[in-house]
Amino acid sequence: MPTKTTKKAAPKKRAARPKAQNRKSVSTKQSPKTKPLPKDAVRLVPLGGLEEIGRNMSYIEYKDDIVIMDMGFQFPEEDTPGIDYIIPNIESLRVKKDKIRAVVITHGHYDHIGAVPYLMGKLGNPPMYALKLPKAILERRQEEFVNAPKLNIIEVKYGDKKKIGEHIELEFFGVEHTIPDSMGVIVKTPAGNIVNFGDFHLDRDKEGNIFHYGEMERIGKMGVHTFMMDSTNALTPGFGVSEYEVVENLEKLFKDANGRIIVATFSSMLTRIGEMIKIAEKLNRKVIINGRSMKQNVQIAQNLGYFKFKKDTIAPVQELKRLKDENVMIISTGAQGEPNAGLMRIVNGEHRHIQIKENDTFIFSSSVIPGNERSVQNLTDNIARQGAMVYNTKLIDIHKGGHARQEDLKIAISKINPKFLMPIHAYYHFRFMAGQIAQEVGIPKERVRLVDNGQVCLLTKEDFIITEEEVPTNYVMVDGLGIGDVEEVVLRDRMMLSEEGMIVIIATINRKTGKLIKNPDIISRGFIYLRDNQELLKEMRAKIKGIVSRIPRQQQLDADYLKSLFRDQIGQFVFRKTRRRPMVLPVIIEI
Ligand SMILES: [Zn+2]
Ligand SMILES: [Zn+2]
Repeated sequence: MPTKTTKKAAPKKRAARPKAQNRKSVSTKQSPKTKPLPKDAVRLVPLGGLEEIGRNMSYIEYKDDIVIMDMGFQFPEEDTPGIDYIIPNIESLRVKKDKIRAVVITHGHYDHIGAVPYLMGKLGNPPMYALKLPKAILERRQEEFVNAPKLNIIEVKYGDKKKIGEHIELEFFGVEHTIPDSMGVIVKTPAGNIVNFGDFHLDRDKEGNIFHYGEMERIGKMGVHTFMMDSTNALTPGFGVSEYEVVENLEKLFKDANGRIIVATFSSMLTRIGEMIKIAEKLNRKVIINGRSMKQNVQIAQNLGYFKFKKDTIAPVQELKRLKDENVMIISTGAQGEPNAGLMRIVNGEHRHIQIKENDTFIFSSSVIPGNERSVQNLTDNIARQGAMVYNTKLIDIHKGGHARQEDLKIAISKINPKFLMPIHAYYHFRFMAGQIAQEVGIPKERVRLVDNGQVCLLTKEDFIITEEEVPTNYVMVDGLGIGDVEEVVLRDRMMLSEEGMIVIIATINRKTGKLIKNPDIISRGFIYLRDNQELLKEMRAKIKGIVSRIPRQQQLDADYLKSLFRDQIGQFVFRKTRRRPMVLPVIIEI
């Protein structure tokens, strides 16, 4: 049983955004009030990923054509219990879904692909463009969603060009990241070239040559209007450590281990996992993968030929009994001390096949995500108590993130040499710092654009204007009941019910008119006694009516969508009023 989370006064995670007029953008040029907005501009709209880590998605629109870039989700925050994922809000796209010509997927990480099964159907299932590996990951995952449409993914290669609609052309190019098959995209528009690297870092070979260096130079020479740049690591000084160094260090560690080796890392670090399996093979160790997502990813990459090791180097966990300790390497998820991940089960003695032994060597090949320090410390303490050795990044450089650090960002900026720099990914401060760094390589403040989620930008040949128009970007939460580990879902629901109670909303709706037929019924258990809270009840009803009345009439009633609006908005409303998050269970009766 996971430890009970203490109830906090729950500070709002996402700081309230200052109103547009108070928002001091680094850019000073635009003054939409005095200057009329250009008519024929290219619209660039980020829907997510600019004020958080995750739910990356943005789109470029010109006349009748829209190109979407990435469609990721965000993992839940502490103040969204019971929620599996937060996905981008696509309200602004639903009304013009017929104009969507392409969805470009930069790579196979969930913060870039996670929302695909939830959103593609709602967007009319437009064609997608992806490299081989992300294509396979997407297709495999889509199968788990029985109601989601079959995806139409066009496999592309580095260097491919695709004409999209009448005025837009896409060109794909290679970038280095922590998963094979990562790419960036050049969106060639009438305003100029918009370049999005996706997630990237600069990696070097032993001679110090940067991969894709020539590519960056070539793109820079083409002339770049806007560089959408991954700023996730903009607070970290220096150059990145090269992957080969990490692998060399790991190999040294592996060689010194006498007993079993147990490596904890992220399932997203697919490149690294492949390297580790190769070393294991060299050292005559069989590899056991512990963690469903990791197993799946490794399998896909292996089937597509991305890994060069023998098929039987990976062994099923049942074989553990027959193997000698010095012939075993276990690669596990759960490096952040997540309560339900594989590693936690091993350490707590709850794993069916793997128990800690005294001569085990544990290696954490991952950095600690801020906020997880405590649980990771507990985890390492528990391992040490059982007599095993633990190595982590503090002891030796065996991890490097997949995002370029300051000095590498400078290299990328100076090569791409854009007219405008638009830092993307991560929180405001990170993007702000990316803007500061850019000044050191000749991009003045006036050419940096710090755009928040939902702010509509207009791009002309000469300018990049952040307008006052905003599209909705409030959280859309997914509660994936029936998907994935049901046990986990049940457990989580119980925790939530025991702590926060629940509210059931019963809305009876006329299918034809989309109107409420009667006052919605609201029932609560374990939350607050509603009869004594008539005021709250009244406000909740009004809120529900408001939500229903805002649904466009011409559309057929989408009960799932309406439910998600109820869950999302009533949940947030109740939280604001009571600082509690009861489970919101919407029931929609169509008559
Ligand atoms: Zn990534
Ligand atoms: Zn990312």
